[in-house]
Amino acid sequence: MPSYIERNALNAQQDLPAWYWSGQTDMACMKDAISQTLAHGYAHHIQRLMVTGLYALLLGVHPRQVHEWYLAVYVDAVEWVELPNTLGMGQFGDGGLMASKPYAATGKYIQRMGGPCANCRYDPALRDGDQACPFTTLYWHFLIRNESLLNNNVRMALQLKNLTRMSNEQRQAVQARADAILGGEIN
Ligand code: SF4
Repeated sequence: MPSYIERNALNAQQDLPAWYWSGQTDMACMKDAISQTLAHGYAHHIQRLMVTGLYALLLGVHPRQVHEWYLAVYVDAVEWVELPNTLGMGQFGDGGLMASKPYAATGKYIQRMGGPCANCRYDPALRDGDQACPFTTLYWHFLIRNESLLNNNVRMALQLKNLTRMSNEQRQAVQARADAILGGEIN
């Protein structure tokens, strides 16, 4: 500090969606985590890192906006602990000082961790199409848009290798769905 708070290693420039302040989203896991957060000022570490934090990472929200949201909504948030956890570990904004790789995952990870996917209108196994889980779509979009930045990270090798197996048509389908999410048509 004070320069740490300005770090944005992935050049993430999206605004935090307005529904982070209301919980009004069709994504069951996000609705649960945000509603609980707004009601009680508390969420479990995994909800913070791998639900609300993961979605912001995949969406490409500016890490400072994510930091300011965490600082505002959690009763136990103290900046010297919260900032490196959010900007560094959650958003990879420091480029790897806090974490050796971005915590990027699909909706299948949330399902495996006991997420409420059975009660969600989306399917965590799908990355494109009308039922595709936004986490899963954006996971692949995250890899596509950050491929060159992450190529030197050996801990990302397997994930990036899987990306090379995608055809151009599959990439285009992900891009089309991601455009709709980024444009706010899907949330
Ligand atoms: S399907 Fe996707 S958005 Fe819905 S609860 Fe599961 S992980 Fe969350």
